[in-house]
Amino acid sequence: MLDCAIIGGGPAGLTAGLYATRGGLENVVMFEKGMPGGQITMSSEIENYPGVTGHMTGMDLMIPWPEQCQRFGLKHEMSEVIRVSRREDGIFIVNKSDGSSDEAKSVIVCTGSTPKRAGFVGEDLYFGRGVSTCATCDGFFYKGKEVAVIGGGDTALEEALYLAKICSRVYLIHRRDTFRSAPNTIERVKNTSNIELVVNAIPEEVLGDKMGVTGIRVALKDGSTRHIDVPGVFVFVGNNVNNQVLLQEDGTFLCDMTPWGEVNVNLSMKTSVPGLFAAGDMRAEAPKQVVCAAGDGAVAALQAIAYVDEQSH
Ligand SMILES: Cc1cc2nc3c(=O)[nH]c(=O)nc-3n(C[C@H](O)[C@H](O)[C@H](O)COP(=O)(O)OP(=O)(O)OC[C@H]3O[C@@H](n4cnc5c(N)ncnc54)[C@H](O)[C@@H]3O)c2cc1C
Repeated sequence: MLDCAIIGGGPAGLTAGLYATRGGLENVVMFEKGMPGGQITMSSEIENYPGVTGHMTGMDLMIPWPEQCQRFGLKHEMSEVIRVSRREDGIFIVNKSDGSSDEAKSVIVCTGSTPKRAGFVGEDLYFGRGVSTCATCDGFFYKGKEVAVIGGGDTALEEALYLAKICSRVYLIHRRDTFRSAPNTIERVKNTSNIELVVNAIPEEVLGDKMGVTGIRVALKDGSTRHIDVPGVFVFVGNNVNNQVLLQEDGTFLCDMTPWGEVNVNLSMKTSVPGLFAAGDMRAEAPKQVVCAAGDGAVAALQAIAYVDEQSH
């Protein structure tokens, strides 16, 4: 029986593994369906992880993390977890895609989330080379430059306001002429002089060259097209939370979730189910940053240690 099963090997899962093993849990396995490191490994540059001063890719940042954890006894199993369930006696069952399963006294779920793509031509080709889904991560690279933001919900408007403080101009491109956001956010956007609303406009293609993005072409309601020259395009059209492992056979979730499918946790990363913790991008109100995911993982692991200890006394 595992003391702790960690699902997902991104910054949250790896940090949970480090703290759980170094804090004395004996039998800890991190289940990761791919290579450890998480989604930051797709980033061509990370500037906002504390202590990083030179040029560093997301991959460079993450390479030493698994080795550090293994030194303290974390076991890594390359497996896809399909479901985590809990027996009446409080023991968790980790079901894997190869049909096998493991029992665990505690579980930390760190499966992350994936921003949705808008689906225009060139979006995937230029992702990480001018197309971004994270203003906090990449906004600074466009300091003093013009950028485009795609979307019309709360996140798109809030990120447009964030980018307007850094960039010289923000084109907010939305397929309708009304926004799905809080009225005061819409007001603030409309009153920000360097945000230009490009409404009733559908992004058709992001344009670029071998250096990256050079602009975006949008189709307007009157049938015409408009080219906007920008080196950065930020897409905010929703987020898929990787929460399937918590979905039970009867269609309910193992623990309380938000209406958007994120896991509700308290400040100790405890879910509504004793012994079950969630950390990183998949938990409610996550800032979706490496440093925050790592911090969550540490908190969750310390709580898992206390939980396992309590159960054995
Ligand atoms: C291009 C890009 C640039 C970014 N730039 C920055 C930046 O500059 N600064 C910053 O702080 N943040 C940045 N981020 C955000 C950052 O990557 C995330 O906030 C962080 O990785 C979240 O960590 P996590 O551990 O919660 O989830 P993830 O990193 O998403 O890791 C989750 C892991 O779980 C695994 N997994 C999922 N489901 C299963 C399953 N069923 N079974 C087994 N394993 C599973 C996945 O394979 C993945 O490895 C960027 C993200 C991207 C995509």
